[in-house]
Order: sequence, then C-alpha cells, then structure tokens
Amino acid sequence: MPALANKKPKHPTDRPALLLGWYDRHRRKLPWRPPAGEWADPYRVWLSEIMLQQTGVKTVGPYFQKFVERWPDVEALGRASLDDVLRMWAGLGYYSRARNLHACAVAVLRDHGGVFPDTEEGLRALPGIGPYTAAAIAAIAFGARTMPVDGNIERVVSRLFAVEEALPQAKPRIQQLATTLLGAARAGDATSRAGDSAQALMDLGASICTPNKPACALCPLNQGCLAFARGDQESFPRKAPKKTGALRRGAAFVVTRGDQLLVRTRPEKGLLGGMTEVPTSSWIAGQEVKAALKQAPVIEAVARWHRKAGVVSHVFTHFPLELVVYTASVPARTAAPEGMRWVPIATLQDEALPNLMRKAIAHALGRSGPGRSAAWR
Ligand code: SF4
Repeated sequence: MPALANKKPKHPTDRPALLLGWYDRHRRKLPWRPPAGEWADPYRVWLSEIMLQQTGVKTVGPYFQKFVERWPDVEALGRASLDDVLRMWAGLGYYSRARNLHACAVAVLRDHGGVFPDTEEGLRALPGIGPYTAAAIAAIAFGARTMPVDGNIERVVSRLFAVEEALPQAKPRIQQLATTLLGAARAGDATSRAGDSAQALMDLGASICTPNKPACALCPLNQGCLAFARGDQESFPRKAPKKTGALRRGAAFVVTRGDQLLVRTRPEKGLLGGMTEVPTSSWIAGQEVKAALKQAPVIEAVARWHRKAGVVSHVFTHFPLELVVYTASVPARTAAPEGMRWVPIATLQDEALPNLMRKAIAHALGRSGPGRSAAWR
C-alpha cells in the first residue's frame, strides 16, 4: 500500500499551479522544446507531434533531428518532393503520416504564405492535423487556452479523477476534466501557460504516472488524486475490451538479379501508400500458401520459387500479418515485369522501404545484421 494512500484529497484547486511548479523543476529536455520561457516554433511542434503519433520519444528523436537539419522550416519542407520525405521517413512506420506531413507543408506554403495558422480551427483545416494535434500546436506554440489530450494525459486525468467510464466513451469527460488543469497566465503577462500545462501533463504521464507502477510518492498531484487515495491507480484508465483484426496471410517474392533486387511502388492510396516493396500476394485472412504462391510475379526466367523456412510477422494497427517468403535468382539482363524495377541491394537504404519489407528482405537474404547495408537494421 503506498505511503500516502487512503489520505483524503486536499487542495484540488491548486492542481494547475502544483503541476506548473513541478514542470519548471523537472521538464524533460527534448529536441523540439525550446529553453524554458521561450516560445516554441510551430513548425517544430507540428513536426514532433506528427512523428510522436504512435511512436515513442526515443525513436522520434533522431528522425526529428534529420528532418530539421534537411528542412529547417515549413517552407523548405513544402518545397521538398514527396519521394524525399517518404525516404527520410522510412522506418518510422504509419506512412500516411509522412504523406500528410508533406501535404500539410505544401498547404501552409501555398495557402498561408509559409506561416502556420494560430487557431485550432485554422490548424484543423490542414491535412493530417486532427483535434489533438491542433490543440497541441495552438497551446504550445501560440498559448491558446486549450488542452490537447493524448494517451499519457488520458491516463493521468482518469486516475486523478477516478473516471469510471471506459475509453473511448470517456474521452469527452476526460477532455473536460483535463481542461481544469490549465495553468493561469504568468503574472503581468497576458499570455497563458496552457502549453506548459499540457507538456507538464505529458511529462508526468511519461515519467511518473506510468502505465505500471506509477511513482505516486514523487507526483506533485498525489494529495488530490482519487485513484491514489483508493490505491487502485493501475486500474485506470478503464478500457473497453479490444477488438483485434483477424490474422492475415500472404507471400512476399524476393527476386535477385546479381546484386540487384526486384521492387515496385505501392499505390498512392491505402496502407503503406507510395512506399517501396518487393512483390507480394494479397494479404487476406485464412489465405492458403498455395493460393498466395499463384500470385507470384510472372518472370520467364524463374522456373521454381524457393520457400524460406519460417514466416515474417508484422502487426499493423488493425490486423496482424504473416508473410511466407519465396526467393528466386534470375540471370543478368532479365527484364523487370511491368510496373517493377531493379534496384542495387547496396542502395536499398535510400528506398522508402517500410519495416515489414525490410524484415521480409532480410529474411530472404539471411542478412539480419548491418553488414551489407543499413537497410537490414
Ligand atoms: S498520484 Fe499517482 S496515480 Fe495519481 S496522478 Fe499522481 S502518479 Fe498518477
């Protein structure tokens, strides 16, 4: 039982000030955050928020640095080609984010003279910016009195107020409660600290109010936390049972021609849109291996496909996937089937290859280490 459990919550109205005081002492240093007291650059806030959707801070850090070094502002990104953006994004997953990122930069440049709109409404009209991201940019970069609610904030708020309703139905209630944690304006300053309040809650959720074993003794809000008082913090947020999609199955066909590999580009729309892949069969639930093999690309020089032992597994947000992998090697000068092309294996790292394809190629070529190419990492 935690030392402070079962104590009656005190001073709940002090929460915004307690939170900001804690943030001023313990804020995380992140590549997209300016030093304390300085306004954040909307471009960096937007870029980081898009990258952080479904991806952790540690993974995002190096990608964020690469992006801002190559494209230091939204104007530069808006003038980049989509192919370059997808290539730079490769490995970060959820590729529709990269496509929307590019579309958004183009729209800011074309429709707003390279300056982000400063209201939630204006931001939400841009490609790829939903309610959460709009609120985050408006609060952090423009000081709007709004509270973006991500998974970390949902967890903190649902514990603090012991929200019994399950997610996702509880979202509006959590949003309303989270807004009560917005900090006041600085003394003598007309601007709000809404952005700092939001970032304080994000940091609290990431470092103290963690999903398992929250460090409640270190939490600035423990005196007013209902779940802590009851001792059942880890049971929040309440969640409705998850529905996972059925397992889909398919085959990947890895064809080499000397030191080259056969690839194609996926259709612009849909899953992994516009990314590079080796030819694959359809991915459907209950698909038999024989049916998948019948969808192999037609290449005259391939007399027989060799099946690699094992499968490549990957989990998308709405379904898990297993691919069996077939290989073949063909003589020099074998033409690529229509819509496909040969690329040197040594330059695969320059292709917009999603992780699934990296895994399939590594499995086929038996190169799980970085020896030959960064693409196998
Ligand atoms: S007291 Fe514990 S459960 Fe409550 S908000 Fe703080 S860390 Fe989370």
